[in-house]
Amino acid sequence: MELSRRQNAILEIVKSMGPITGEQIAEKLSLTRATLRPDLAILTMSGLLEARPRVGYFHSGKFPHQIVAKKIHSILVADIKSVPIVVSEKCSVYDAVVTMFIKDVGTLFVVKEGGLLEGVISRKDLLKTTLGGQDIQKLPVGVVMTRMPNVLFTHSEESVWSAAWKLITHEVDALPVVRKVAQPDGSDGFEVVGRLSKTNITRLFVELGEGN
Ligand code: ADP
Repeated sequence: MELSRRQNAILEIVKSMGPITGEQIAEKLSLTRATLRPDLAILTMSGLLEARPRVGYFHSGKFPHQIVAKKIHSILVADIKSVPIVVSEKCSVYDAVVTMFIKDVGTLFVVKEGGLLEGVISRKDLLKTTLGGQDIQKLPVGVVMTRMPNVLFTHSEESVWSAAWKLITHEVDALPVVRKVAQPDGSDGFEVVGRLSKTNITRLFVELGEGN
């Protein structure tokens, strides 16, 4: 977060003299209280300053980088996830390629009945099949996908930071967002309810940079 010269000056005054009232800060800077109002609002909203009625402003003890980290940890997968693009295990490699183009995604999730996660298929998985010279109209994606239980996933309540950490450490482009569903046989099924890709994270980064 980039502060203006005046905001930095306010911050320094409050750090050394706080708690201090808005009037007193204005006096120190030879400005009016009204002129300072937007700056004080920004500093308070960003968490750098705290304001108490009848006491005044004081420094929160936090620094801009800590506030950015706190903000990032507070954003959930649910806030930025996209609609999942799914195919069935019997879908041919050819149809999977067409689906990727039509839906403009790089990762497809393979689901069985009830939308339960079975696998994931990436661009490279599909390209690989072309090396084998197989008939991609007939070859089902089930043969080339990464299959459960080897699929990494996330859920809506996980923090975006923790999901992004999975993307980076496991070097994958997208995670299915799932909801746990108990199966009649007592095992856990994972219904696919969304998609979290590197694009979602990049978009969030841009929006945070714009101050949204
Ligand atoms: P690309 O193939 O376009 O480089 P990825 O890096 O996402 O895309 O995929 C690399 C490999 O990891 C592929 O074999 C793919 O099946 C697998 N993969 C992709 N996403 C996941 C995931 N969420 N969990 C486990 N494996 C994955």
